[in-house]
Amino acid sequence: MRADEVKENTLTRAAIIGGGIAGLATGLFALKRQLSMRLYEGHKRLTCQDNLLWLAPNGLHLLAELGLMDEITKYGVAQEMMHFSSKKLRPLLSLNCQKLARTNGYPIIAIQRGKLYEIMLKRFLDLGGSVHYGHVLTAIREYDSSVELSFAEQVEPAKVDYVIGADGLGSRTRRCMFPGSSISYQGLRTYLGRSKTPVSSRFVGQTIEAWGNGTRFVLTSLDGVTTYWSAIERPRTYEKNSAPIPEDIIARLRQSFATFDPDILNVIEHGLVSSVHRCNFGVVAGLNKFHTDRVCLVGDAAHGMPPNMGQGASLALEDAYELTTGLASAAAPAEVFSQFDRSRRPRAKQMMQLANSMNTLFQPKSRLGSGLRNCAASIFPDQLSQHRMADLYRLPFGVPSALGVLS
Ligand SMILES: Cc1cc2nc3c(=O)[nH]c(=O)nc-3n(C[C@H](O)[C@H](O)[C@H](O)COP(=O)(O)OP(=O)(O)OC[C@H]3O[C@@H](n4cnc5c(N)ncnc54)[C@H](O)[C@@H]3O)c2cc1C
Repeated sequence: MRADEVKENTLTRAAIIGGGIAGLATGLFALKRQLSMRLYEGHKRLTCQDNLLWLAPNGLHLLAELGLMDEITKYGVAQEMMHFSSKKLRPLLSLNCQKLARTNGYPIIAIQRGKLYEIMLKRFLDLGGSVHYGHVLTAIREYDSSVELSFAEQVEPAKVDYVIGADGLGSRTRRCMFPGSSISYQGLRTYLGRSKTPVSSRFVGQTIEAWGNGTRFVLTSLDGVTTYWSAIERPRTYEKNSAPIPEDIIARLRQSFATFDPDILNVIEHGLVSSVHRCNFGVVAGLNKFHTDRVCLVGDAAHGMPPNMGQGASLALEDAYELTTGLASAAAPAEVFSQFDRSRRPRAKQMMQLANSMNTLFQPKSRLGSGLRNCAASIFPDQLSQHRMADLYRLPFGVPSALGVLS
């Protein structure tokens, strides 16, 4: 079934705001269920930062459902192990991803964020979907029987039956519909970057998160040539994500991570300044439901959280699957949104609480706290954390094979 066969009629006229993972996943599952949705994206073309995403088994199940696993495995690298280690790279707690593949059907796959977007976008376009680029949502007005969307730069407003807000952590949709919600800054900042260095070969197929005092350094390599890393700190002062990257960023990081393993210092030393960008950890706060009668939030717009659990993309895919399943039934959108909220909010809340607690548990402020963390992690049985992660990374609903794979 191609999208040009999807009949656009007033009963199914809907808009998705945002062409990131949540927006594209919603668009793809909507096509699969023959729902007509227009996808509006603020950027003028596909745009995203060049960093890595770790895709967990629950998300991979849904990417497989979309028929994208060949491409994901072609460009991504299945992780054999994920280690939490001391700053000298002594493993303290490990997740065996091959075992995870046996219990959950898939391992964890690291992939360039841009590549994942490209794969999803290509399939969306191949199926006849289209992205209305350059549509920056500025305001939403909800009426009894429709929703009006206003865009920046004199783009014509649009009137639709209902709206899916997939516009990320800073969601304008959320701010319009839930003015009491906000983003709560978590006191942590990461600099993400890339380094071309011979030590990269050591990190292929494994992800290491090395723990210091108030600092963490995460790294992996897809090809043994380039290492992708993120250096997480507790800064004294707040700088916006968009603020210029200091010219001496490499020297600053070398200082902050001076006591780490020589291989980590080597990675920092080889960091490409032009690849570095900043990300402050934030979480959506003050949002008591994900929807109104005609507007529903998905992905980071609904439950943006620090990336500690590596679940943001997978939860966005779960949202997309569950919401479009409901919308494909005969029920009115308000009813579907309400059911979606009942089923998705507890799952999102659980992940948010875990992700937030990891800020404190994995990155305590004091030297004493860091020592206790390392002791606790080194005696905590890997098998227990393996079971726990396998539980969390399981899809919370069945995916009927009858739906088949899009072709
Ligand atoms: C540093 C970092 C590392 C991460 N690592 C992982 C990981 O390893 N694994 C994982 O699963 N998750 C990870 N995440 C989380 C993951 O990136 C997000 O959960 C996921 O990208 C959410 O997708 P989204 O589509 O909801 O939002 P976004 O990816 O933010 O997409 C939102 C889209 O909406 C568009 N938009 C915004 N405002 C407007 C507007 N007003 N009008 C129109 N369009 C608009 C944006 O341009 C964008 O295209 C990480 C996040 C960060 C910050």
